[in-house]
Amino acid sequence: MAAHVKPKALENFKARDFRMLIDGIWTEGAGDPIERIAPGHGIVVSRYPAGSKADAERAIAAARKAFDDGPWPSMTGAERSNILLKAADLIAARAEELAFLDCIESGKPISQAKGELGGAVDIWRYAAALARDLHGESYNTLGDGTLGVVLREAIGVVSIITPWNFPFLIVSQKLPFALAAGCTTVVKPSELTSGSTLVLGEILIEAGVPAGVVNIVTGTGPEVGAPMTTHPDVDMVSFTGSTGVGRLTMANAAQTLKKVSLELGGKNPQIVFPDADLDAFIDAAVFGAYFNAGECCNAGSRLILHKSIAAAVTARIAELAKKVKVGDPLDPATQVGAIITPQHLQKIGAYVEDATKAGASVALGGAALDLGLGQFMAPTILSGVQPDMAVAREEVFGPVLSVLTFETTEEAIRIANAIDYGLSAGVWSRDFDTCLTIGRKVRAGTVWMNTFMDGASELPFGGYRQSGLGRELGRHAVEDYTETKTLNMHIGARTSWWMPR
Ligand code: NDP
Repeated sequence: MAAHVKPKALENFKARDFRMLIDGIWTEGAGDPIERIAPGHGIVVSRYPAGSKADAERAIAAARKAFDDGPWPSMTGAERSNILLKAADLIAARAEELAFLDCIESGKPISQAKGELGGAVDIWRYAAALARDLHGESYNTLGDGTLGVVLREAIGVVSIITPWNFPFLIVSQKLPFALAAGCTTVVKPSELTSGSTLVLGEILIEAGVPAGVVNIVTGTGPEVGAPMTTHPDVDMVSFTGSTGVGRLTMANAAQTLKKVSLELGGKNPQIVFPDADLDAFIDAAVFGAYFNAGECCNAGSRLILHKSIAAAVTARIAELAKKVKVGDPLDPATQVGAIITPQHLQKIGAYVEDATKAGASVALGGAALDLGLGQFMAPTILSGVQPDMAVAREEVFGPVLSVLTFETTEEAIRIANAIDYGLSAGVWSRDFDTCLTIGRKVRAGTVWMNTFMDGASELPFGGYRQSGLGRELGRHAVEDYTETKTLNMHIGARTSWWMPR
C-alpha cells in the first residue's frame, strides 16, 4: 500500500469555524471550541462551539416559544411543504460542500458521501409531500347523536440527537418529518461530525424556517445531549446512536414520560443457501461488510453460510475483499475510508484479537493499515466464529466480517435470532419458500431477499428488540411526531344522566 500524503484538495485548506444556531441567532460557545481532526488526513478540519447545558436550555426555551406562539405549527401543510421543498433544492445546490464536510469529518469516501446527499435530498422531498397528507380520521358510525373526529396534532418540542457515521443522512431521516408535522426542534449532532448539520441550519433559514423552529447545539452528549432528554419542556426525543446511550436516553426521558424514538445498533445476519446466486451474494457480502468501513448499524457483519458452501464462499469473499480500495477518503476511487477515531480503531482491533484467542481464524486482514496519515483498518474476515463469541453477538462497528455456518433452515433462523439485536437481515436463495420462511421468522425490522442494504424513502426503517423503538421513513414517519386527539361531538338533545328519558 502506497504511503498516504496530504491530498491536493487539502493543500490550501483552512479549518472551518462554525457557530451554533439558537433562536435564529448564530452563537459562539463560552469555552474553547471542539477541534475535529480528519480521521483520514490527521489535520484539524473543523471547529465547533463546545455548547453547555445552559446553551441546550436556551435552545429548548426557543423551541418551546416557537411551538407555543407559532407561526410554524399553525401554518398549513402546504406552506410547510413548500419550505421543505425549498430546503431540498438548497441541499441539492450545496451537496458538494455538504458531502465534502461529511467526507473529511467522518472519513467516509467522497463518492459515498455524495450518494448519501442524493438520498437525503429525496427524503426531504418525500417528507414535504407527507406534510400535505397528514390527517386524522372521522367516525360517522357512532349513532345519530355522535360524531367522532380524531386529530393528528404536532407533538411539540422534539430533541433530535444524531451519531457520526451518517451525519447528514441521519438528521434527514428525522428533522424533515418533525418539521412536516409542525414540531419545533433542538438538534445535537455528534461532536465529531457537526459541520454538515450546521450548514443545514443556514439552508433552513434561507428556505424560510422561522427563528426558534430549528435550533442546533453542538457539544458533547453528557453536556448538551443529556438535558435534551430530561428537560420538562421537551415532548419527544428522537435518538440514533449506540444501544447503551439509547437505553440511557429512554431512562432519562422516562422521568417526564416523553415519547422516545430510538434507532440503535445491529448485528445483521446474511443467511445463504447453496442454491443462491453466489456471484451476486459475494458482491453483496463485501459491500455489506465494508460499506462505510463497517461503521454502519446495517452492516452485514454476520454471515450464516450453509456448511456445504462455507469454505468455498469464504475464499471467494476474501479474494474480492482484497480488491476493495482502502485509502484517502477524498480520492474518488476509494471504497473504504478511515476509522472515525484512534480509540475506535483500537476497539475494533481488540474484537479481532479476542476472537482469535477464542478460536476464530483470520481469513483476511485483521490489523490496522498504516497509510501515513489518519487511521485505517484492513477489510477483515474471521472464519470459524461460534455463535457465543463476542464478535458474533456484539456490534464491532468496523470492517470485520464474521462467518458462521448452519445445516438446517431452523438452525439458521435460531442463530440469526440468538442475539439481542434485530435491525436487519438478508437471505439468499433462488427458492421462494426458503426466502419467505426466513423473511417471516427472522426478528428484524428489514429483511432483504437476494439483495442487501437497499433502501427507499417510502420504506420504514428501524429495529426489533435492542435495535430500537419506532420506525423512521415510510408514509407513517410524520405521524411519529404527532399526538392523537379525539374530538367527541354530541348532536341534538343529550340523554340526562340523572333523569333517564
Ligand atoms: P453514541 O451513542 O455514542 O452517540 C450518539 C449521539 O448521542 C451523539 O450525538 C452523542 O454525543 C450523544 N450522546 C452521548 N452521550 C449522551 C447522553 N448521555 N445523553 C444524550 N446524548 C448523548 O453513538 P455514536 O455516535 O458512537 O454512533 C455509533 C452508534 O450508533 C453505533 O452503535 C451504531 O450502531 C449506532 N447507529 C444506529 C443507527 C440506526 O439507525 N439503528 C444508525 C447509525 C448509528 P457525542 O458523541 O457528541 O458526545
